[in-house]
Amino acid sequence: MSVTHAPQTADVLTRQDPELAEILLGELHRQSSTLQLIAAENFCSPAVLAALGSALANKYAEGYPGARHHGGCEIVDVAERLAVDRAKSLFGAEHANVQSHSGSSAVLAAYAALLRPGDTVLALGLPYGGHLTHGSPANFSGRWFDFVPYGVDAETGLIDHEQVRTLARTHRPKAIVCGSIAYPRHIDYAFFREVADEVGAYLIADAAHPIGLVAGGAAPSPVPYADVVCATTHKVLRGPRGGMILCGGELAERVDRAVFPFTQGGAQMHTIAAKAVAFGEAATPAFAAYAHQVVANARILAAALADEGIVVTTGGTDTHLVTADPAPLGVDGRAARGRLAAAGMVLDCCALPHADTRGLRLGTAAVTTQGMAEKEMERIAALLAGVVRGEVESVRAREEVRDLVGGFPPYPA
Ligand SMILES: *Cc1c(COP(=O)(O)O)cnc(C)c1O
Repeated sequence: MSVTHAPQTADVLTRQDPELAEILLGELHRQSSTLQLIAAENFCSPAVLAALGSALANKYAEGYPGARHHGGCEIVDVAERLAVDRAKSLFGAEHANVQSHSGSSAVLAAYAALLRPGDTVLALGLPYGGHLTHGSPANFSGRWFDFVPYGVDAETGLIDHEQVRTLARTHRPKAIVCGSIAYPRHIDYAFFREVADEVGAYLIADAAHPIGLVAGGAAPSPVPYADVVCATTHKVLRGPRGGMILCGGELAERVDRAVFPFTQGGAQMHTIAAKAVAFGEAATPAFAAYAHQVVANARILAAALADEGIVVTTGGTDTHLVTADPAPLGVDGRAARGRLAAAGMVLDCCALPHADTRGLRLGTAAVTTQGMAEKEMERIAALLAGVVRGEVESVRAREEVRDLVGGFPPYPA
């Protein structure tokens, strides 16, 4: 596959540093010749890649537009204002901070804006799909705050609302976090708002996964309900790797100060420019159609996997994300992932609400960007089940994957 974006840049790199250029081309080849089913990944556009590879990467810009600690920021100020304005209008938010280097940095800043070390926070427990930043002992969050985990129902896989309410009343948290790395259903933001109000807690929505669906009108927005919304720009939203925070006007200054100077230094202006490009793309009817197709594909994939005998958590999905237990096919998630990797099907393991073994987590954001639709989802499910059962040899499965993705190049020439 040829590199169609910034061909000159690629040529320059090939001439100057063939060793590294080879690595970049190898990764591009891997991405386009295997099946990308990692729920957190996507293919951003050539325009987004162009902004990432631009001269804005050279610019130091500590501070915010109009109030920088460095000279020469007059042009990058325009880029950041554009990104902020586009994010505000895309999500109907009063305030947007687009400087967070990642989703985790956005969550760190949200906590820094609202909490003090030692405060109690209610969040989805890690065994149920909470993110590292939701209280993992290996993460700053678990070290600096007192996290109380809520869970999902072992049978239905759905968030246990009664438990959330009871824990909130008992522990009186300073903040409640809703959001997950593996929850396939819409989150009831109104419910979380009601509980937060009852106990006087802030509501933080960590919408890193569904924010792209929100942008495309394919999932409910947390913006009207949460005090602070944290997000990534590189998942379904299809922008550059990075984070973002949305909030009301009254928290704007606290959030901005929590990002810079409290938890970050200079903003990455090339990434912010790329975020602006992605927000521009996400505001188009084509992106809304994409977001709805992502969900339609995930539903077909979930149903087809269930037809193969795989247990689909919650019985289906509302989003881009499917979590499933391959145990009825004779292997656990970890073994299944290994077999699938050998066949060129790239996905993750995840926790399962109903079992101690690991399950599989798949997403349809990347394959939908490539143009795949219902027919391909059915083909993927059949192939996946065949490989997991050990019926399809990995060499033959690898051929089939190559054949399938060959018709849907992520960066067509
Ligand atoms: C992906 C994700 C994050 C972290 O994003 P990074 O950019 O990897 O730091 C945080 N919270 C949730 C719920 C996520 O899904």
